[in-house]
Amino acid sequence: MTHVLPALPYSLDALEPAISAETLALHHDRHHRAYVDKLNTALLGFPQYAGISVEDLLRRLDSLDAPLRTAVRQHGGGHANHSLLWRTLAPAGTAPGAGLTRRIDRSFGSLDGLQQALLAAAAQVFGSGWVFLTCRDPQDALEVIGLPNQDSPLSQGATPVLALDLWEHAYYLQYRQERARWCGMWWSVIDWPGVERNLQAALAERGM
Ligand code: MN
Repeated sequence: MTHVLPALPYSLDALEPAISAETLALHHDRHHRAYVDKLNTALLGFPQYAGISVEDLLRRLDSLDAPLRTAVRQHGGGHANHSLLWRTLAPAGTAPGAGLTRRIDRSFGSLDGLQQALLAAAAQVFGSGWVFLTCRDPQDALEVIGLPNQDSPLSQGATPVLALDLWEHAYYLQYRQERARWCGMWWSVIDWPGVERNLQAALAERGM
């Protein structure tokens, strides 16, 4: 299987002013494409992993052939993380539905509580990395975690349902060094129905 760059589900200017068309074009067409291309190149010598999704490769990262592990962690992680990012963004104005709101309230007290948890975790990530809202066990609370580089929660037994990219390429053209301002604007273009779909899929996958 060749891994493929997913098309964006909206136009390049759909997320302005939070994400400019220029930033989105570079981020998707150059940065994300590079992760996909490098993942495919890394997998060329490993036919035993053909046909396995990037998410499954990341879930079984520790059991992969050692020479492949770093490439999947970095480029596979970059591919999966960005694919999640694109499908959790939408033009400003969506809101969580009742089911997702209940789970957010149970885990964070309120939507404001979730926002504070995400922004606090982002402030703790030094250098390049991500913050994720994750689901580990269906019975458990939702959890916010920060990870360095292109590491994926999938490699730690958790399923990410929302992602905040803290790499400079995600915001530097527009926000320069003001990463906290980028994080605040990112919050305005979250696709909440998309997050809920991801959560439902994660729960279904875990047998709920
Ligand atoms: Mn990125």
